[in-house]
Amino acid sequence: MKALVKRDATRGIWMQDVPIPEAGPNEVLIKLEKTAICGTDLHIYLWDEWSQRTIKPGLVIGHEFVGRIVEVGPGVTGYRVGDRVSAEGHIVCGHCRNCRAGRQHLCPNTIGIGVNRHGAFAEYIVMPASNLWPIPDQIPSELAAFFDPYGNAAHCALEFDVIGEDVLITGAGPIGIIAAGICKHVGARNVVVTDVNDYRLKLAADMGATRVVNVAKQSLREVVSDLHMEGFDVGLEMSGNPRAFADMLDCMYHGGRIAMLGIMPRGAGIDWDKVIFKGLTLHGIYGRKMYETWYKMTQMVLTGFPLQKVLTHQIQIDDFQKGFDLMEAGQCGKIVCNWT
Ligand code: NAD
Ligand code: ZN
Repeated sequence: MKALVKRDATRGIWMQDVPIPEAGPNEVLIKLEKTAICGTDLHIYLWDEWSQRTIKPGLVIGHEFVGRIVEVGPGVTGYRVGDRVSAEGHIVCGHCRNCRAGRQHLCPNTIGIGVNRHGAFAEYIVMPASNLWPIPDQIPSELAAFFDPYGNAAHCALEFDVIGEDVLITGAGPIGIIAAGICKHVGARNVVVTDVNDYRLKLAADMGATRVVNVAKQSLREVVSDLHMEGFDVGLEMSGNPRAFADMLDCMYHGGRIAMLGIMPRGAGIDWDKVIFKGLTLHGIYGRKMYETWYKMTQMVLTGFPLQKVLTHQIQIDDFQKGFDLMEAGQCGKIVCNWT
């Protein structure tokens, strides 16, 4: 089968012919319909410091997908050939303290598809049946293809009560854009989004953000006083940029709560005075809650959440290079690739 493989330990990604995987006990074989490119895939493509210490060359990358079950392994119940599914890409151990307590998103033994084992940028993928998420007929495949990052946004945005609150989102990548929409959808008062990329800030504004701020041109403090606020009640850090995080700490209201999703560079500094004297809460977010986040994402789309607004490009998988170029330039929201 065709698959996008990290063949060499250098910048790039290669379309190669690899064997079709086999579904073992409690697993299914899925024929991919659409996949979406994640920032993580771009990191692997660019072969940055994180990829160099994490990825073994020869890996089929990709973890955002939708497809149809074509084979059901021994012991699988509740699924049939032909079912349209996406899946949780974090495969957990099932026997640690957190897994057994129903907190699988905190499993210390998590294995990520497309990172620690073969991923979804291929004609077929094998997944444990327990990771599948069936897609209702009303949800189009081009949206189901990126439920994984939608889930990061939902997990983060719903971690703290945002009803009536003033929310700051730093970083208008696809995840920050979606999170802005979710906060408005569930009833936040002001949702302010920062970035240094005007193309993406426009997408955040279209998604319903109250105000978008290009922090390369305007100071966030100015916007806080413009909106007659004393500071933000809830912060969602979605840039992975220490400067953005510093802006956030500076503009949080006393007692504010921050959910941190963006992956900071090692050794990034932090102004502890802001955290301590404002009594801030910092909470790390990893992945999605299994499977409460998936449930809420599905219901939000079914009740009118306009997820499609972040989808800017649909391409054929053979044009994958164009997709990675757009990602590198930051001139895109979500990019979905067709495999059929
Ligand atoms: P992305 O890289 O597409 O978006 C980050 C955005 O931050 C970019 O648009 C960039 O222009 C912007 N930015 C840069 N400097 C800024 C500044 N000073 N102020 C404000 N914004 C600034 O990433 P994404 O795919 O939307 O993901 C968001 C973050 O979450 C990334 O750091 C990603 O690695 C991380 N992530 C974490 C998890 C998790 O489970 N914790 C999962 C997925 C992604
Ligand atoms: Zn576990």
